[in-house]
Amino acid sequence: MGKLIIFSAPSGSGKSTIINYLLKQNLNLAFSISATSRPPRGTEQNGVEYFFLTPEEFRQKIANGEFLEYEEVYTDRFYGTLKSQVEKQLSEGQNVIFDVDVVGGCNIKKFYGERALSVFIQPPSVEELRKRLNGRGTDTPEVIENRIAKAEFELSYADKFDVVIVNDQLEKAQAEALETISNFLKK
Ligand code: ADP
Ligand code: 5GP
Repeated sequence: MGKLIIFSAPSGSGKSTIINYLLKQNLNLAFSISATSRPPRGTEQNGVEYFFLTPEEFRQKIANGEFLEYEEVYTDRFYGTLKSQVEKQLSEGQNVIFDVDVVGGCNIKKFYGERALSVFIQPPSVEELRKRLNGRGTDTPEVIENRIAKAEFELSYADKFDVVIVNDQLEKAQAEALETISNFLKK
């Protein structure tokens, strides 16, 4: 049976960049595909980045108890991890890596305990976070300010995680993540 690696961080911390790096290493990692009721962005495809559901479909699956955890970020905008998806990947012997928000991350850790490693990716500062979000060029100034406002709350969760990795220099953060996760998977 595989193990679970949970990544959480304020948006713009470099979580996706580090996860994509780890997926290319020899760690037998599979990305956990979440479900969401938000519409696909850009080139996103159903069953690749997310399973895209309508809010009604999402509510039905909640009622059926199909989620390991889920959140309604605001009215009708849901994100959640499907039990079936995670169990399928784990039973195939893969280690599953999650990109979820801080609350979801803590819930998954609580459920799986020692079988899971929770990792918080911390930006060097909120100013740097703003710079990266601007540099990434995928969000409007308004969305960026919303993400920054949420970051203050998310940063207060850091000490609830098993490991905190500061992403200042990317190569260093990637090396630290690789070492920490390799050690955890060997245990
Ligand atoms: P997240 O998934 O946490 O929202 P991303 O991985 O999309 O964050 O990173 C946000 C932006 O910051 C991207 O443009 C990425 O290339 C850049 N970035 C990531 N790590 C660093 C770093 N250590 N230094 C500078 N820029 C970085
Ligand atoms: P985005 O809409 O930019 O893809 O994601 C927004 C946020 O939702 C990110 O912080 C991401 O980590 C979080 N997220 C994605 N999938 C899940 C999930 O299954 N559960 C929870 N709790 N959060 C998720």
